Amino acid sequence: MKHVDVPVLICGGGGCGLGLSILLADLGVQSLALERHAQTTDHPRAHILNTRTLEIFRQHGLADEVYRQGTPTAGMERISFRTSLGGDGPLDRRLIGNLDGYGGGALKARYEADSACRATNLPLMQLEPLLRQVAEARAPGSTRFHHELLSFEQDDTGVTSHIRDHDAGEAYTVRSRYLIGADGGKTVGRALGAQMAGPRHLRKMVNTYFAGDLSPWIDDDGVLIFYFINPDGRGQWAGGGLVKTGPTRWDRHSESWVFMRELSPDDPEEIDEVNVVTRMRELLRLPESFKPEVRKIGRWDVQGVVARQYRFGRVLLAGDAAHRHPPVSALGLNTAFGDVHNLAWKLALVLNGKAPDALLDTYEAERQPVGARVAEWALHGFRMRSLIDQSIGLAPGQAEANREAFERLYSDTPGGATARAILAEAMNIQRIGPQAHDMEIGYAYERGALVPDGSALPARDPMGGIYHPVTRPGSRLPHAVLSRDGVRVGTHDLVRPGAWTLFCNRASWRSVARAAAKKTDIEIDVVVVGARGDCQDVDGTWARLCEIGAGGAVLARPDTHIAWRSVNSPARPAQALDEAIKAVLKLAS
Ligand SMILES: Cc1cc2nc3c(=O)[nH]c(=O)nc-3n(C[C@H](O)[C@H](O)[C@H](O)COP(=O)(O)OP(=O)(O)OC[C@H]3O[C@@H](n4cnc5c(N)ncnc54)[C@H](O)[C@@H]3O)c2cc1C
Repeated sequence: MKHVDVPVLICGGGGCGLGLSILLADLGVQSLALERHAQTTDHPRAHILNTRTLEIFRQHGLADEVYRQGTPTAGMERISFRTSLGGDGPLDRRLIGNLDGYGGGALKARYEADSACRATNLPLMQLEPLLRQVAEARAPGSTRFHHELLSFEQDDTGVTSHIRDHDAGEAYTVRSRYLIGADGGKTVGRALGAQMAGPRHLRKMVNTYFAGDLSPWIDDDGVLIFYFINPDGRGQWAGGGLVKTGPTRWDRHSESWVFMRELSPDDPEEIDEVNVVTRMRELLRLPESFKPEVRKIGRWDVQGVVARQYRFGRVLLAGDAAHRHPPVSALGLNTAFGDVHNLAWKLALVLNGKAPDALLDTYEAERQPVGARVAEWALHGFRMRSLIDQSIGLAPGQAEANREAFERLYSDTPGGATARAILAEAMNIQRIGPQAHDMEIGYAYERGALVPDGSALPARDPMGGIYHPVTRPGSRLPHAVLSRDGVRVGTHDLVRPGAWTLFCNRASWRSVARAAAKKTDIEIDVVVVGARGDCQDVDGTWARLCEIGAGGAVLARPDTHIAWRSVNSPARPAQALDEAIKAVLKLAS
């Protein structure tokens, strides 16, 4: 039987597994990603890529191509709730409410101040092939499609996995130092008996991916997602959604779309290949002449679960294998990229013998609370959706009463004014979906590969919207625009893949960092910010955000989270930095 040896085996060639494959390749770590399907996904699924993901992509040279293929800001400024797209009845084509999202509309200035990267939208069926291509280009032979991991066992030194090559019809084994379950929860976690906390089977959803010209009925090119609440809808949940999926036009002329529909438990008719078009026309009030080409129907269950454990010895979980939740704030794949950004540099240091295996414990310590918070958050967002129906006064399955409720909503009566005022409040709460800016970029680690400095936990916006930049250890490095040799450069652009970056205001840190880097054999770049430093603080943003005084320093990890800071000049800088790095890397002091 054939046998392969590789330091890291990745089970799953979805966004998470392919993302990890690229990040590891950039850090010089050999890995092998296995995908049981012959090809990348043929369904759009995940599509919104948030600011944080684009920061990770930018650090790894992926952002330009993702922006080139993805939705420009003008095509994703807001979400919109409507009664229908077509129809000419008194309740057709009525606006229920609009909400800015993803850094568009009124959010623009705030999002731009917080990051050099804007969000974009690129359906998974376009993103995965791109990631696969990049993974193969950077490390030829690092992905194997149509190869399935069947089982595995681990011992003190590694993991032995049993693989089926479906093309050749052969079995082989892989011996790896670590196995990463990036399999969407299908294989590795189940085999380990990983416990998932949280509710499942909350709703059944059907997504229909189709090609068709909806331009005659679309009046707003800036809407990324339309949601429909139909007065005549049958069943308990009458709503549905429509997302544009390009691939080349991101306005009303988008060539393809995804229609999302909830399956109502009290709706006797299952949505299937035969009736989906009729059901879509019915909800959107489109004429018979609208004949979409259905390309794929996907079914999924709404759940909100997180693995209690992310690490099981030499096996670690990432992405949907570790957390699965409603896509209300689009945090699924985006959180997966956060997972692998956190994991990749730690694996690299451990495999290169620069840090002990204990460093990998910090992956769980840091990422499990993020996954738990994201799952909890997404459930809040999911539940809040029903407030819209409730504020209008919709009664499950009662078409006539629902029609009257809509008539009241749009009526010039005291009851109508009250309903509209309540609806406005319910709409405002929906911001936790498309305006979850702090959830996207503001997550911070309390313990892990960092040195807490005893400072108080900063206040966070409980509604997940407003991000407050801080340099407290565990936080994301704040974004500021500096000037280097006359060229504008963002703080995140100064953190190279795999390298540590010490931001300071005195050149004396250079020799200190050089000595520390030599001792620990890690790369530390020093950025002296100041009039005669490496970079100038052109508009004073860094001075406002860095939270350090003269002689202080902030050490950013390769994943642009803060590992350590010294607010003022330490008495013995060399000793302080040395001890900090050892503590972060879990090296014996
Ligand atoms: C309708 C919808 C909309 C969404 N929108 C967004 C969004 O806008 N933004 C966002 O961030 N997220 C979104 N999500 C969530 C997102 O799709 C997922 O979080 C993400 O795709 C998970 O990626 P993954 O690689 O972890 O898992 P998966 O995509 O499930 O990939 C796992 C892969 O592992 C493979 N595999 C499993 N077992 C084995 C095995 N034994 N051997 C080999 N291969 C194996 C599977 O075939 C699969 O390809 C959405 C989800 C849905 C359903």
